[in-house]
Amino acid sequence: MNKFEALKQYFGYTAFREGQEPVIDAILNGRCVMAVMPTGGGKSICYQLPALLLDGVTVVISPLISLMQDQVMALNDIGISATYVNSTQTCSEQREILSAVVHGKYKIVYVAPERLSSPEFLDCIKRTRVPLVAVDEAHCISQWGQDFRPSYLAIPEFLDQLYYRPTVAAFTATATDSVRLDIEKNLGLLSPFRIVTGFDRPNLCFEVITQGSKPETLLSLIAERGDKCGIVYCATRKKVESVAGKLAECGVSVSMYHAGMSDTDRKSSQDDFIYDRVQVMVATNAFGMGINKPNVGYVIHYNMPKCMEAYYQEAGRAGRDGSPADCILMYSAADVKTAIMLIESSYENSNHPTETVENLKQMDYARLQTMQNYCKHRGCLRAFILSYFGQNSEGFCGNCTNCKPVDLYRDITLESKMILSCAKRIKDKLGYPMGTQALIHVLRGTRNEQILRLGLGTLSTFGLMSKFKKSTILEYISHLEKEGYLFIDPDHGGVLLPQKAASVLFYDEAVMLPISEDHTHSHASSQDLGKKSSGRSSRRTRKSNADLRPVPLENKLYEALRALRHEIARESGVPDYIIFNNASLADMAAKRPLNKTQFLTVLGVGSVKAEKYADRFIGVIKKYYNA
Ligand code: ADP
Ligand code: ZN
Repeated sequence: MNKFEALKQYFGYTAFREGQEPVIDAILNGRCVMAVMPTGGGKSICYQLPALLLDGVTVVISPLISLMQDQVMALNDIGISATYVNSTQTCSEQREILSAVVHGKYKIVYVAPERLSSPEFLDCIKRTRVPLVAVDEAHCISQWGQDFRPSYLAIPEFLDQLYYRPTVAAFTATATDSVRLDIEKNLGLLSPFRIVTGFDRPNLCFEVITQGSKPETLLSLIAERGDKCGIVYCATRKKVESVAGKLAECGVSVSMYHAGMSDTDRKSSQDDFIYDRVQVMVATNAFGMGINKPNVGYVIHYNMPKCMEAYYQEAGRAGRDGSPADCILMYSAADVKTAIMLIESSYENSNHPTETVENLKQMDYARLQTMQNYCKHRGCLRAFILSYFGQNSEGFCGNCTNCKPVDLYRDITLESKMILSCAKRIKDKLGYPMGTQALIHVLRGTRNEQILRLGLGTLSTFGLMSKFKKSTILEYISHLEKEGYLFIDPDHGGVLLPQKAASVLFYDEAVMLPISEDHTHSHASSQDLGKKSSGRSSRRTRKSNADLRPVPLENKLYEALRALRHEIARESGVPDYIIFNNASLADMAAKRPLNKTQFLTVLGVGSVKAEKYADRFIGVIKKYYNA
């Protein structure tokens, strides 16, 4: 099997993402790797795929138990034999696993760095062929990073004790040059293949809020986001408790997480969030590393974090599945005081020499200053972040609040959904598309001779936009065409939907219509204008209250697929996203596969998943389309 076959057959993908292929090639050629890729960039496949193709068992060093469990579940679900050894297992369980490892039962074994010093583990590895050691969250080995974990220093010792040197591949999302060099040095990477892919996460929208009462703002931010799930980070345990308490009082489905809670409480709280039993997680920065949940729709920082590295890493937990997500930072001057207190207290019991402590502190304060600069930055927030990580950008991203001037856009996502869905309905019904005029007639519910003769009056989208002016709908249609969400056939004028329409129909991608002053006045009816924005919420024109209105059929199918995913996940005792992530479900709803071969073309469907799930999902699709 070659790397492309493995990518399709196991992971269900047809193309590599930026950086994946060269990293995989390097590893397969036995070269060490130092890879810096953003959260959600797809680091796991970079070592999981070579692990499949190489002889022996790959050891993955990962800082957190939850991360290991998650990855092992996901691997097992796609038919790759993987396991972990960690402290949640009894000694005899561990022995059994290690013996199975020696007998070649697994392709991948996950361990925490502490495990590397265990004689039993070392003995097992010495009797096994280990072609590759992958170090996840590799910045934890650097004292200069913000996440130093002394246990990571056990890695070089471990490598030294092996009879031969396996290929070592280090991965991290957040590393400045000095941290990256430190990782290479500490891990003893010999002329590694170095790759730093772009840090940009285009689907994340950045915002800083500096005004207003935090509790109220937070509530409205959460309410505006409907049933999306999100994380709220607070600086201290006390804050976590008070914020979570308030949200709960207001009826938000919330759980909390901080280091002061018992292990059991933390675990059950985390599981509630991961398994979609609660919607919002309020936590300190103790929560999140190793949380793979791909459908986090927003990350709100209730307090300013202490540095850009931490901020981007935490905020980056939003939108891993590639769908639009928000990263909102609520800043107040009091946050600076808290951050200073946290920096000072982190050195209280330090056994480093005074000089080192002073150096470290100085760096912390410099990082804090950068963070404050970010909060006050008037230009593009994304450009600020990227330049901090050494990446050039155009300085205008169009997807942060500073690049999206307030009243110059209106959110027409809902209207766009109506239009696109209606165009699709018409084509489905007639077998061919109709032109713009007919589309507008159907949307406005015009019962003219042609519409009635063609039976379009019975469509579920008939009359959906009866309150809109013709000219307004036409304006929306031309905007959708300009943005590539619909396509007007130059020959016969038929309205067609390209693949990109799916992102609006199934994925709630926001459609923003630029409006000029005089334009605003030309829309007479208030119904027509929808929610006219004002004050703070005016900055958030991206979201519409789409959920309150009738949903088109595609959305209903998507919801039905989601419900089935939840049912299957419950039966198998895994989080929903282990079965399929949202990107896969959206692709499925768009492609509507009716047999196994078609099912295999869905994003993220490999042979094992097709075998396991095709029949049930196809069943749901058939129910919706009477096929
Ligand atoms: P990271 O570890 O870098 O944060 P992950 O490895 O968890 O990122 O990958 C993030 C998401 O991207 C996962 O849902 C994964 O399945 C998906 N993904 C990874 N590689 C690809 C690819 N080549 N094509 C499509 N999706 C991919
Ligand atoms: Zn911007």
